Amino acid sequence: MPGLQLRGVAKSFRNTEVLSNVDLDVAPREFIAFLGPSGSGKSTLLRIIAGLETADAGEVILDDRRIDGLPPGQRGVAMVFQHYALYPHMSVRQNMAFGLRNARVPQDQIDRLVEDAARVLEIDPLLERKPAQLSGGQRQRVAIGRAIVKSPKLFLLDEPLSNLDAALRLRTRVELAQLRERVESAFIMVTHDQAEAMTLADRIVVFNDRRIQQIAAPMEIYARPANRFVAQFVGSPA
Ligand code: ADP
Ligand code: MG
Repeated sequence: MPGLQLRGVAKSFRNTEVLSNVDLDVAPREFIAFLGPSGSGKSTLLRIIAGLETADAGEVILDDRRIDGLPPGQRGVAMVFQHYALYPHMSVRQNMAFGLRNARVPQDQIDRLVEDAARVLEIDPLLERKPAQLSGGQRQRVAIGRAIVKSPKLFLLDEPLSNLDAALRLRTRVELAQLRERVESAFIMVTHDQAEAMTLADRIVVFNDRRIQQIAAPMEIYARPANRFVAQFVGSPA
């Protein structure tokens, strides 16, 4: 089965379980939003999928291949963080090329991948600038560009817009929607902004108390919350 499957994923930190028996299916090109209170394990699950954290139990399968056990760079997954760190001494071009260079991709291919991604994100005029010469929104796009060049099957975005001011957040939300049309990847985005989840996501996954409480389309979550927690969390009238 193509896409991502999580099967029975569990994780504890110092005897405290933060994720218990999590199952999730993400279709190719699907856009999933993770919603839930702070501390409900959303980032931990992204990090497990990316390979930055090891699950205590369970399987992570991407396009019919077990990827838990593989190092992060070999999983076909790219992660964009809230506190995206660009290398300050490198140009935008060098920042975007960094992962490819480490993977020993040939230079002419690197140039093409970086320039294509820069065009998609409309940062091609900024390629020779340093991060300090960019606005917050431009820097965020470079961080996304650094992920795009790897042509990931799956993008993992951990509150990518939460450092931006309200106007920029709205604009970047629109840009993410456009990006999504132009690439073949699936997306999982953690957000605490329900409007963001509602407008961008095909399906929303609501986390609480170590478990997935509901997986459903945005309207469905509102109209038919699975339980009282979900109803209260999304402010559903039900
Ligand atoms: P969320 O992203 O939903 O806010 P997290 O996945 O960051 O939640 O955290 C879930 C729980 O796991 C929290 O209680 C957090 O303190 C704990 N936690 C996360 N990472 C670690 C870690 N590396 N060591 C110990 N505890 C951690
Ligand atoms: Mg988090």
